[in-house]
Amino acid sequence: MRYEAVIGLEVHAELLTRSKMFCSCAVVDSTSAAPNTAVCPVCAGMPGVLPVVNRQAVEYALRVALALDCEVAQTSLFARKNYFYPDLPKGYQISQYEYPLAERGRLVVDTISGERTIRIRRVHLEEDTGKLTHVNDGQPRSLVDLNRAGVPLLEIVSEPDMHSLEEVRAYATSLRSILRALGVNSGDMEKGVIRFEANVSIRPEGSAQLGTRVEIKNLNSFRAMERAIAYELERQAAILDQGKEVAQETLGWSESEGRTYSQRSKEEAHDYRYFPEPDLPPLVVDADWLERVAAEMPELPRARQQRFMNNYALAAVDARLLAEEAETAAFYEAAVAAGAAPRLAANYLLGEVFAWMNASGEPFSALRITPSSFAGLIQMLESGQVNQNTAKAVLAEMLRDGREAAEIIAASGLQQVSDADVITALVARVLEENPAEVESYLNGKETLANWFFGQVMRAAAGRANPQILRRELARQLGNLKR
Ligand code: ADP
Ligand code: ZN
Ligand code: MG
Repeated sequence: MRYEAVIGLEVHAELLTRSKMFCSCAVVDSTSAAPNTAVCPVCAGMPGVLPVVNRQAVEYALRVALALDCEVAQTSLFARKNYFYPDLPKGYQISQYEYPLAERGRLVVDTISGERTIRIRRVHLEEDTGKLTHVNDGQPRSLVDLNRAGVPLLEIVSEPDMHSLEEVRAYATSLRSILRALGVNSGDMEKGVIRFEANVSIRPEGSAQLGTRVEIKNLNSFRAMERAIAYELERQAAILDQGKEVAQETLGWSESEGRTYSQRSKEEAHDYRYFPEPDLPPLVVDADWLERVAAEMPELPRARQQRFMNNYALAAVDARLLAEEAETAAFYEAAVAAGAAPRLAANYLLGEVFAWMNASGEPFSALRITPSSFAGLIQMLESGQVNQNTAKAVLAEMLRDGREAAEIIAASGLQQVSDADVITALVARVLEENPAEVESYLNGKETLANWFFGQVMRAAAGRANPQILRRELARQLGNLKR
């Protein structure tokens, strides 16, 4: 039987606030800070303390809600989600349940087959848990670090609107880049500050009813998420093909074994005995506050992509790659403002500069070129002072040592040879030195024209202006034919 994949994502994103969700402890990098150095009686769950809502966290959450076109609730409520675990000192997590901060949004993403709209079910605020480390040096123990306990966490839940790995990838990457653009999350999956859980089911193609879903946890990279979903789709299809039923459960993903494994049977909401948090008043977001947050929203990647396509006549893919990160986008626009031709600058940035970053492993912020030095090179290329090969070699040097293009070119005599007399002489010499090839060419082996082109370019040490060379070569070969 043929099946349709049905996938919904739950995303947990820590918010990059200075202090925690309900106390004034600092939010620290939980992968590097010494354990339990950012803890107070509130986040350690001591009796008799009172939580206070972090206003900045609410504003960050509102930015996300607005970016996802959600309806923001004027009044939302915090609730206690009760369960026991050693990383949860209070014995409950403060979350939002029946009355979340925002609902009914959407995220439009691009796929090969066009735009897709993924509906957002809800966006709500909660707090993160502590972190357990299990050690076994002869005596197995579990260590608790409460630095992360109480860090503001935003949960973003999609509707089950994704039907392929491509749609999942597009949704996840686009959501991540929105969070980064809004300045509310670093998007660092390895550090666990953004975590994805995938709900996966299948149903016979054409069926309108949803199948039984599983929820997959421990997905700490996009690659892991895609592998896990692909694995699940196959596993579920095999079960249904045998006439059996998929069990609703929570699964883990083992990266090393490349398979999912059962963690526990799926918990139900009533297992958590949710009830309204008695220590916190309702969260009220009035129109003024919401308007102020809306007015301060930065440009989002998709809007920027659209603007790049309109203003600089870029292809959709190029515009998206340049617009995705604010830093890259700002560099590009500064280079264009400094006089670089938009299309050429886009090609060199996406081709040469991105390749250099991939190879060197350095982030964009570590680049030694500036928008104006980059623009200088692009202008020399456009005006024919250097050809493509030289431009690439010069750019590589600029990236290595940060010198200006003009300086590198002057120092190494790399100016393009555009002098027609020089090129005429070189073409004549190459034809003279290769009589056998000229003979074959005249007997009909026309592809040798490219070979002659390469020989002349080599004789010019790669610096001949290709247009002038091509024209001159055609002229001299034409003369020989007569
Ligand atoms: P919880 O996991 O806490 O029980 P929900 O019932 O709201 O929460 O569902 C969580 C996620 O599961 C949502 O992203 C939703 O889109 C997705 N989901 C719900 N039903 C299915 C299904 N049959 N197949 C795939 N995903 C589903
Ligand atoms: Zn605290
Ligand atoms: Mg869930």
